[in-house]
Amino acid sequence: MQRQKVVILGGGSAGWMTAAMLAKTLGHSIELTLVESEQIGTVGVGEASIPPLALFNRALGINEAEFMAATQGTIKLGIQFEHWGQPGDAYLHAFGPMGKDLALTPFYQLWLRSHHGTPDDVSDFWRYSLNAQAAKANRFAPLQRIEGTPLAGLTHAYHFDAGLYAAYLRRYSEQRGVLRIEGRVERVGLNHSGAIETLHLASGQSIEADLFIDCSGISARLIEQALNCGFEDWSHWLPCDRAWAVPTRNPETLRPYTRSIAHEAGWQWQIPLQHRTGNGLVFSSRYISEEDAKAVLLSSLETEPLASPRLIRFRVGRRRKQWHRNCVAIGLSSGFLEPLESTSIHLIQSAIMRLVKLFPRSAGEVTVLREEFNRQSRIEFEQIRDFIILHYHLNQRGESPLWQHCRTMPLPDSLTHKLALFRQSGRLIRHQDELFTEAAWQQVLLGQGMTPQSWNPMADGVSEAQLSEYLANLRTLMDHTVAGLPEHQRFLERYCRAGGVPD
Ligand SMILES: Cc1cc2nc3c(=O)[nH]c(=O)nc-3n(C[C@H](O)[C@H](O)[C@H](O)COP(=O)(O)OP(=O)(O)OC[C@H]3O[C@@H](n4cnc5c(N)ncnc54)[C@H](O)[C@@H]3O)c2cc1C
Repeated sequence: MQRQKVVILGGGSAGWMTAAMLAKTLGHSIELTLVESEQIGTVGVGEASIPPLALFNRALGINEAEFMAATQGTIKLGIQFEHWGQPGDAYLHAFGPMGKDLALTPFYQLWLRSHHGTPDDVSDFWRYSLNAQAAKANRFAPLQRIEGTPLAGLTHAYHFDAGLYAAYLRRYSEQRGVLRIEGRVERVGLNHSGAIETLHLASGQSIEADLFIDCSGISARLIEQALNCGFEDWSHWLPCDRAWAVPTRNPETLRPYTRSIAHEAGWQWQIPLQHRTGNGLVFSSRYISEEDAKAVLLSSLETEPLASPRLIRFRVGRRRKQWHRNCVAIGLSSGFLEPLESTSIHLIQSAIMRLVKLFPRSAGEVTVLREEFNRQSRIEFEQIRDFIILHYHLNQRGESPLWQHCRTMPLPDSLTHKLALFRQSGRLIRHQDELFTEAAWQQVLLGQGMTPQSWNPMADGVSEAQLSEYLANLRTLMDHTVAGLPEHQRFLERYCRAGGVPD
């Protein structure tokens, strides 16, 4: 059988993650070329991830310690949201479960029952999260389970330098036969049915393929500029459209979590890597000027900047189709959801795995596979979108125009339904394959001030005394486990100390 020709345009994280996984899984039946332009460069941000990235690396056969050392990686146990509910508030969206279900009764329902009567202080909820306790104590070690118990251990993701990750995956891919061509695509040739036939480079070289993967970033050089696929704009729900990014010197302690700090017209991220801290201010140009936003960021840094701030403009929404004609968009070319929950690299990962699962063996099956790919991609984007909107919508941040807009704006029906159900009954629905768990939704809902009026009567099946003993035991186990963990920084030094500071 003749090998299909696949060309990836773009060598950012999307391009090289795609190249690596396709080479690993389909290298025997496709011929893979990647075109990138050093002159154009990459977006140069994207430093926080979520736990499934470990699965992607494991599928590629990449050793975790080697990956972390190569990318200046640190551990991420969750995100601390500061001032999102009311100014002065802070809560953690910690990865991993909360507490432990009691037979068939979800832990959360037990906690709601125990908490009834003190609805204003919800901080107790995080005492049942091992991740939250470890993050607060600045501690970490790989831990599958709490020893001698059925309780889950720690669930971690990484902070890492995505540029170094792309460089690492480039070596991986080239060793597995991927051909890299340096060059800038200047013109795209289409065939009679409107599909892409040829990429014409500035050097005069032309490249043909059966399938083109557009990893060209925000410019969407193939899917939009060449194929006019169309864009579904979600800025009425997520009004931020700019970010300033700046690296700073590390503080003395490297926290094992991302900080997300709400401001008048946006929010600030703080992401500790081994060699520096990534910072940025995501903001809406409708509510603050670019220059004022830069000043806000510079005046809120914890340590001194290592470079001048860089401005990135973006549009929130998704491409109408992630796979259009013979072009699949992966990465920023497929759409963008702002980095509040660090989901962009995950969207790359899941698009790649979807493509691997639905990769056509012959031309005859393309239509049906493409439709399925687009259906799944749309659902995934919309589910993550709702979770991000939730953070903005559920605020009590007074009268500043951005926050007032977000509090009062009409929501997507899917989110309205979820909120009504939770508020009245304490129940949450999570669709099959939905990325964010019930524990994730519970933390944001409670952390930003929505306490339900009821709980599932299943939780009434134990006596008050049994319930308080059960909760006390859980707390003791968690406190004891966290006390036995090493400090995050000590763990990094022993496990994955990175080499010298790269350029
Ligand atoms: C402000 C901000 C913060 C972010 N933070 C996070 C985060 O914390 N976590 C997370 O998961 N994600 C984050 N992201 C998203 C993340 O940066 C991207 O998803 C990720 O870097 C992938 O980018 P990409 O590869 O699609 O595009 P890029 O990195 O822009 O790469 C595009 C590639 O295409 C090439 N190219 C483009 N046009 C041409 C052409 N005509 N010819 C040849 N080559 C071409 C470029 O040279 C480059 O190699 C953030 C994004 C923004 C904007």
